[in-house]
Amino acid sequence: MEATFYNTKKKRKRSLKSLAILAFITLLLFSLVVGCSSSSQSKTVQENSQRPILVQGPMPIEAEKFAQRLENVKKEKSGTFEFYIGTVDNYPVIVAKTGKGMENTAAATAVAIERYNPIAIINQGTSGGHDPNLHVFDIVIGKRTVNLGSLKTADRDENQGIDPTDWKPMDLMASEGSAGEDPNAEKIRYYQGDKDLLAAANAVKDKYTKGKVVEGTIGSADVWNNEVDRIKWFHTKYGTSVEEMEGASAAQIAKAYDVAFLGIRILSNNKVNGGEYNPNTAAANQDYVYEVVRKYISMLPSE
Ligand code: SAH
Repeated sequence: MEATFYNTKKKRKRSLKSLAILAFITLLLFSLVVGCSSSSQSKTVQENSQRPILVQGPMPIEAEKFAQRLENVKKEKSGTFEFYIGTVDNYPVIVAKTGKGMENTAAATAVAIERYNPIAIINQGTSGGHDPNLHVFDIVIGKRTVNLGSLKTADRDENQGIDPTDWKPMDLMASEGSAGEDPNAEKIRYYQGDKDLLAAANAVKDKYTKGKVVEGTIGSADVWNNEVDRIKWFHTKYGTSVEEMEGASAAQIAKAYDVAFLGIRILSNNKVNGGEYNPNTAAANQDYVYEVVRKYISMLPSE
């Protein structure tokens, strides 16, 4: 009885041992399979690791011409934002139709950054001139972009009226505290254009023949200014070359995520010197921006 008991115990011990070996081998095989598949996964990620360039346009006429020039295109939608995902010179480029205005653009920028992890963002389209020396079809490369709608009014009591020329710029990014109370927030916040994107834009200036290409300041707000004195006020106080309704919001979000940014705007109208609105400028700007993108791609370090 004792011997049998001993034998059974020994047998059980042996079978436990073989079970352990089996478990170990299974584990080894499993980890090998997982290891292989994860290394092939990271390889595909590595192979596709080129971060795309994002080109934004608000209206169909400001985005679709560029989108048509992409190769290997597929389209994705998020809300009302449309993304044409393709390539230029075999490098990934995404054209985003953002819709007009600051809110659409800010949201479309954040969605694109989260989804596609772009290496750079170019916000482009039409604009209205603030500088009397710029004419319809001239292009402004945004050395700086600024929000023209972030303002704090003067302190006035009832019946003391309204005077927009007394309004002060308000920097919403100055601190996390109240911008209404913080005197440090009473300043203009400029978003700087990325130096490599600026270099690419300057390098292909001569390819554009429908007008001149200059560096300047792009001002943005959900406002279309048609009062020449107000336009002059912005031009003097903020140094704006042109106004539009998107650039500064894209620049702000690009900065929040530390992504290179540049605004490129063609004048479709200039109230200051009588330049009538011409929608064909939208296509001309996309042709120029296409050259900028190609140049920028050629400047990127090869892997
Ligand atoms: N001419 C069209 C304009 C559309 S709304 C219309 O009247 O329906 C304005 C769009 O054009 C925005 O995307 C803005 O970025 C751009 N834009 C062009 N010129 C502008 C200007 N003078 N002021 C503000 N936005 C301007």
